[in-house]
Amino acid sequence: MTSQLSYVRTTTDGPWGTYLSQVDRVVPYLGELARWVETLKRPKRALIVDVPIELDNGEVAHFEGFRVQHNMSRGPGKGGVRYHPDVTLEEVMALAAWMSIKNAAVNLPYGGAKGGIRVDPAKLSHKELERITRRYTSEIGIIIGPHSDIPAPDVNTNPQIMAWMMDTYSMNTGTTATGVVTGKPIHLGGSLGRVKATGRGVFVTGREAARRLSLDLSGARVAVQGFGNVGGAAAELFNQAGARIIAAQDHTGSIFNESGFDMADLMAHVKASGGVGGFKGGEVMGNEEFWDVKCDILIPAALESQITAARAKRITARLVLEGANGPTVPQADDILAERGILVVPDVICNAGGVTVSYFEWVQDFSSFFWTEDEINLRLDKIMMGALKKIWDTADRHKITLRTATFAVACERILTARKERGLYP
Ligand code: GLU
Repeated sequence: MTSQLSYVRTTTDGPWGTYLSQVDRVVPYLGELARWVETLKRPKRALIVDVPIELDNGEVAHFEGFRVQHNMSRGPGKGGVRYHPDVTLEEVMALAAWMSIKNAAVNLPYGGAKGGIRVDPAKLSHKELERITRRYTSEIGIIIGPHSDIPAPDVNTNPQIMAWMMDTYSMNTGTTATGVVTGKPIHLGGSLGRVKATGRGVFVTGREAARRLSLDLSGARVAVQGFGNVGGAAAELFNQAGARIIAAQDHTGSIFNESGFDMADLMAHVKASGGVGGFKGGEVMGNEEFWDVKCDILIPAALESQITAARAKRITARLVLEGANGPTVPQADDILAERGILVVPDVICNAGGVTVSYFEWVQDFSSFFWTEDEINLRLDKIMMGALKKIWDTADRHKITLRTATFAVACERILTARKERGLYP
């Protein structure tokens, strides 16, 4: 019954350790379903693939690729694919597990999965990016499919990469399988509203949390880490609601403007230069100073383990909205709770992306496409409903929103697990 897996280096540090400790915290609230909790502490299936490609200079390079299906009790695997030089099996396991929790928390009919390639895509040409994507897709083609496991964009992947994945899978199966990936371009069965959906979900859950805290969004000071699809889109929506985006940080640097950035200018700068660094409408700030900025709302929307215990002691925000997956380590979570800082956890806060992925998948099967207004309205409704159930659970047990989200999600997953029964 031990959850130490022989192929995992450690269970305490890093994203997988963070995930395991989040599961441990929910056990007291699971009642008799706790009997099945071990099932959440190990992935159902993990595939490691070699991804060799020919570089433009004629050399052959090999990359490590992964696809992990953490749990499929409630439906097919679902979750993104990330391209990043630091990707590891353990990280992908944690990301897949968080997808299981997230999909169940929003009650989408999916299990959880995630994939990744250990590569810096900025160092690849367009053609090399296409080759690595196609070879990776072909290698994981033995476990993905419209009814088995449906990839989507994540860090450093985008609609073009999804188009290559969809095409490769389709060529290998002799079909046009639009439902095999989500986050596709609109002409290939993509959904309106998908690109900004994660950021929109961060805004929707953040708006509701702010209302419950009596925190007026008009004039509120917002700091955002990560200015891609998630952080950038969320920042735009908060700005439209009257908030000031006063600090921004990404891999290109950190910037500050007390009166709030001009968001149209900042978005244009990020689009043209690839990051917030060098933006003329703000002052340069030290990367570590970012965590000391006086703000009302902090949105970590970059990578895992950014809010460490040391940083949690310095954060001044009243509200933390986790746009990224796994940005807060467990010790930091406790510090934020003790300091009365409300955290809307990743597993509900950033669920807008996969929710619109679900809409995309449904639209692909029915070959009937909805308007952007319909998408945004349904997204709002689903996220508000899910958040209300989580909040009620938190109030009832006097637990954090994170543990409450895990409680709601684990109950759904483990009930399905129990009802399906143990095979054979
Ligand atoms: N990568 C996104 C996430 O972490 C979306 C996954 C999806 O749409 O399947 O939630």
